[in-house]
Amino acid sequence: MPNDQTFSPVRPSRDNVYTGSPLDRMAERRSDAEFIAASLASPQAIVAPVWRAQNLFRDQRARFYSTAEALSWESDPHRWLFLGLWDGRPVFAVDLGQHETPKSLLAEDDGDFADIRSIGGLLPAGEASVLAYARGLIHWQGRTRFCGVCGNPCVPASAGHVMHCTGCGIDHFPRSDPAVIMLVIRNDSILMGHASRFPEGMYSTLAGFVEPGESLEEAVRREVYEETGVRVGEVAYHSSQPWPFPSSLMLGFYGEGLTEAIEFRDEELTDARWFTRAMCRDPEAHGFRLPGADSIARRLIEDWLAG
Ligand SMILES: [Zn+2]
Repeated sequence: MPNDQTFSPVRPSRDNVYTGSPLDRMAERRSDAEFIAASLASPQAIVAPVWRAQNLFRDQRARFYSTAEALSWESDPHRWLFLGLWDGRPVFAVDLGQHETPKSLLAEDDGDFADIRSIGGLLPAGEASVLAYARGLIHWQGRTRFCGVCGNPCVPASAGHVMHCTGCGIDHFPRSDPAVIMLVIRNDSILMGHASRFPEGMYSTLAGFVEPGESLEEAVRREVYEETGVRVGEVAYHSSQPWPFPSSLMLGFYGEGLTEAIEFRDEELTDARWFTRAMCRDPEAHGFRLPGADSIARRLIEDWLAG
């Protein structure tokens, strides 16, 4: 069947969740010890605790503390990270990962540690962005404790933004892994898949990591073909989303489906189907679920539905 609808890219209708950071990251001052010390001493400073990839929430809001309070839990400067200035207020993250029971440090009604993904879409945009940033940076530190070049231990530098090797002296910098995520459209239908790691009944846009030596457009076409056997023609950029869960940057695209037949060429998906607009407008009635409200996958689908 010919693709009788002209492929037309869809523009993002609003910012993606976890974007919209209120911070001036002040990257140029991270190695300025006097500036960092003054920021720590500022009565305006606020601190976001992170415990083993979880952030602290109370009543679906981020919980911040004063420097003095947070220092009483953790005085090792290597576990403190400077995130930037928020309306002039210094913002830090503190890594409480070495405490077995972090709740015992806090007051009874101080909230709970939770995966930001369980709350992200409900938080004010600025808070979601700051907490995701804190979590991603601390995760990267934890995965960079030893040098990949010489194998010696690394120690945090530049207020947490560099891991410095104590052996060969090389500096390791935070990294984000680029991943393409794409809504493939053919006529009035979109291609979505289900993987065994997804919640039951959930179908989502296809996605995958960009490989060395590959453009984003090539990654889109390769991933879709590998996962479903569908050939993609035109590729158009939509928007991006930080996804530091643990370390991705999602790059959203629309892709023009050139073929329809589905054939699983790798083992990434357990199912893939074409879904019409009518089905996507009422997933429950058609026995499936859309991806989470905080994801760019959902945004790609919603913008297509509205288009
Ligand atoms: Zn080294």
